[in-house]
Amino acid sequence: MKIIELDNITKTYHTGTIDVPVLHGISLSIARGEFVAIMGHSGSGKSTLLNILGLLDTPSGGAYRLAGREVSRLPEDALAALRNRFLGFVFQQFNLLGRLSAVENVLLPLVYSDSRKDGATAKRDGSNLLEKVGLGQRLLHKPNELSGGQQQRVAIARSLVNNPLLLLADEPTGNLDTKSAAEIIHILKELNDSGITIVMVTHEPDLAQAASRIITLEDGRIVSDARGAGNAAKAGDAEAPVYDAAAAGHPVANTVRIANYFGQSLRALLSNKTRSVLSILGVLIGVASLIAMMAVGKGAQEEVKKNISSLGSNLLIVRPNSPRMGGVAIEAGAAVRLTLADADDIRESVPGIDKVAPYSSGRGQVVYNGKNWNTSIDGTSADYPYMRNSAPSKGRFFTHEETVSRAKVALVGQTIVRELFDGENPIGEYIRIKRIDFQVIGVLPEKGASGWRDEDDCIIIPVNTAMYRLMGKEFVDRIDVRVTDFDAMDKVSEGIRQRIMQLHRLPEERMSSVDVRNMADIQNTISSTTKAFSYLLGSIAFISLLVGGIGIMNIMLVSVTERTREIGLRKALGANNKDILFQFIIESVVICVIGGLTGILLGSSVSLTLARVAHWSTKISLVSVTMAFTFSVLVGLIFGVWPAKKASRLNPIEALRYE
Ligand code: ADP
Ligand code: MG
Repeated sequence: MKIIELDNITKTYHTGTIDVPVLHGISLSIARGEFVAIMGHSGSGKSTLLNILGLLDTPSGGAYRLAGREVSRLPEDALAALRNRFLGFVFQQFNLLGRLSAVENVLLPLVYSDSRKDGATAKRDGSNLLEKVGLGQRLLHKPNELSGGQQQRVAIARSLVNNPLLLLADEPTGNLDTKSAAEIIHILKELNDSGITIVMVTHEPDLAQAASRIITLEDGRIVSDARGAGNAAKAGDAEAPVYDAAAAGHPVANTVRIANYFGQSLRALLSNKTRSVLSILGVLIGVASLIAMMAVGKGAQEEVKKNISSLGSNLLIVRPNSPRMGGVAIEAGAAVRLTLADADDIRESVPGIDKVAPYSSGRGQVVYNGKNWNTSIDGTSADYPYMRNSAPSKGRFFTHEETVSRAKVALVGQTIVRELFDGENPIGEYIRIKRIDFQVIGVLPEKGASGWRDEDDCIIIPVNTAMYRLMGKEFVDRIDVRVTDFDAMDKVSEGIRQRIMQLHRLPEERMSSVDVRNMADIQNTISSTTKAFSYLLGSIAFISLLVGGIGIMNIMLVSVTERTREIGLRKALGANNKDILFQFIIESVVICVIGGLTGILLGSSVSLTLARVAHWSTKISLVSVTMAFTFSVLVGLIFGVWPAKKASRLNPIEALRYE
């Protein structure tokens, strides 16, 4: 039975504009069980011929039947599968993967085969093969712990792992000393004796003598084909298993294969720990900042929302509005000035109003017992606690009578209690604001911080006292109005505006001088601000994730270049483009997933720490965690694709030759 039948095979390389004809019509047939040595001067086309025999290269013309099947025009994937299933390669440079042990190197072709050997069986087969080539004691050694001769034995064992039909060796002893060379030839001879067909390129006439047939090439032509004595008898051995070449060539995608890609990727990452850790770090920082920044943004948003809704939803705020042009206030004198009388009038004349609280605010120095504190001072009416849901936590609020009589009484916030009174009960004590003594009659309930402002750092006094005694103002800063019926908000709001315009005799075109807003409006304004703020934070984090991604791409590109020979080897052993593509994409995705997961942990702990130590309100949402994780996987995919594509497109022979 013929294993190889070449009919007028030609090969021409095209380098730039020049055609380099290398093989000029090679016709040749090799039978099962033969041991063929190919000899010839350097450059005579031996390697080219062997690469064509090994399906690593395609001929420019002619026909090639491997075990009866025409293979010279098959697509790449089919060739890869045939290489894996039927061919074994032994190279001059051994081409072992340095990060794998001897036995793992031997088992490498199984990654790309469809055989479903379980791990234990495979390991046993691998060690049996190493035993067979005399390396039974070196199973777990790495290539750099083996001599050249030993490495070549490992390579031979590797070529045998799929029970090949044909073993191809290109100057297998070229890098070895005479003694090791003789040993390798001896092993090949034994393999041939056990029925394996071998085609070997060699320079050494001595070594060629081991072969049963010596073919000599000169300038791409066969110039002699001599059969040695005795050995040819094995040709057509009846016991040899029948190979069904037609059954191969259909790569089967299965879960085992995918699991194998993962194994290979992990090993590659582990073998270059510093580099992997650095690329993981890039993603980690991106994801962690994404999580932390989104948590801070979200927390601020919720805090603002909570604060605003605690103010009550049927509140209207009436303010004078300076006429504006292009966002700049013009002619300050033209602004409407609201007075206490306006507040009283609105209460009486606009229907649907429940309570009214005019406001006059300022800042001032407060003194108690020799201690000074600068705080905000709000003058308001006796309705304040009802409108703001803030009944004093201690003591009482001032009455309407006290407001009218400009009583010198004050309520203090928690911060004041802490700073001026050392946390002692302040009720009944006298504090001095701008040289006026006020008696503390109550303590305001705790409100917490809203954004950057401490809401507890304030003092509340009657509005009349504030205006006439303390600040010397005749106008109020704003008037808060509580509406009886939430649904009537818009109507009341319009009623107030009309009434004020009427009171101040404003013409219709100065409508916008009175600003009446409800809490929903204010809430929208603030939440759009905080939203913009969290988008800003998010985009900064996103950029850092992007930078991490580019870092990964860079590293993957370097790694592709660095591992060009590895890629060539894997292809020779039967990896198809998809296998290589997946391996590299999985590598970058694994980096990103590890970075993503650790980033989520780090980001969450940073936000929790911020919440605990700095008392920032943060909120880690499931959305942000999912988003961060998805992003990191996407980064891995997107930035991994290009290097992976680059790797998968490498030509196996060129890759194997890469220095
Ligand atoms: P051998 O193995 O017998 O020393 P090769 O088969 O490697 O020779 O090369 C035969 C000829 O083909 C040489 O002249 C070489 O320059 C040429 N050759 C080999 N590969 C290429 C290539 N990829 N592009 C152009 N020329 C090539
Ligand atoms: Mg060569």
